[in-house]
Amino acid sequence: ATPTALMVGTGRGAQLGILIKGPEVLESTRRVDTVVLDKTGTVTTGRMTLQKVYVADGADEEQVLRLAGAVEHASEHPVARAVAAGAEERAGRLPQVEEFRNVPGQGVRGRVEGRDVAVGRLFDALPTELVRAREEAERDGRTAVVVGWDGAARGVIAVADAVKETSAEAVRELRALGLTPVLLTGDNRAVAEAVADAVGIDQVIAEVLPEEKVEAVRRLRREGRCVAMVGDGVNDAAALATADLGLAMGTGTDAAIEASDLTLVRGDPRVAADAIRLSRRTLATIR
Ligand code: ADP
Ligand code: MG
Repeated sequence: ATPTALMVGTGRGAQLGILIKGPEVLESTRRVDTVVLDKTGTVTTGRMTLQKVYVADGADEEQVLRLAGAVEHASEHPVARAVAAGAEERAGRLPQVEEFRNVPGQGVRGRVEGRDVAVGRLFDALPTELVRAREEAERDGRTAVVVGWDGAARGVIAVADAVKETSAEAVRELRALGLTPVLLTGDNRAVAEAVADAVGIDQVIAEVLPEEKVEAVRRLRREGRCVAMVGDGVNDAAALATADLGLAMGTGTDAAIEASDLTLVRGDPRVAADAIRLSRRTLATIR
């Protein structure tokens, strides 16, 4: 590989909206056969909005919203932003949270109005009406977060975001390059399947914790695949670093960008295909 050709490739990348850490990155792109795509913020916009609130028998909807919103207000997760904004809109000013704790890939905890509140996937036992609520939300392709305090689940909040307009085209382009797309997410299986269907992906790895995302990438590599990972979140950083090629959404977190080899400046997943095409072309010129 001549340095000049690689430099030209790097310059062309910048024109396409691809920031390349170093010219040598183009070489590792050549062997990639599998592209793992994170769901939230990569295939979907990550701009979630509150869709519906369900409460347990005897619970008060406004209180569920107020306490959940107060804790989520301290988090920057897309789910948290949706819950906090929706709660403020429906229940008014949010109270203060104390002892806030983030549980990566699972939710948040904090103390509000003298109660120990948890929001997310942090409850094992749910009353039947909330089990049904969660099923309904997930059947509709929404992410269901459970709200509770002092040890009991009191409500379910359904949030959803939209698939990016360019995601289906991106998957078609990746397939046309002979690559196998895989959807990877911490979200529940029903939601993941709905998104995968919408964009044309048939291999789905769902309900994984942030540290399990790395394990999923390692497993694919052990199976002999050469893996590119595309992600945006703090929870994707380790997996991006572990993949043969890490591609970060420029619209994502600094942690993801730092862990990656390439940054897709505009956050358009089609540019992942452009990057692979560019490196193949650059290397063909060299040979
Ligand atoms: P993804 O892999 O799709 O980017 P994450 O790993 O960040 O998603 O989160 C996985 C799941 O954990 C979410 O779908 C949600 O159910 C739950 N979760 C994470 N953070 C929060 C939060 N701040 N509030 C509520 N639920 C959360
Ligand atoms: Mg994400």
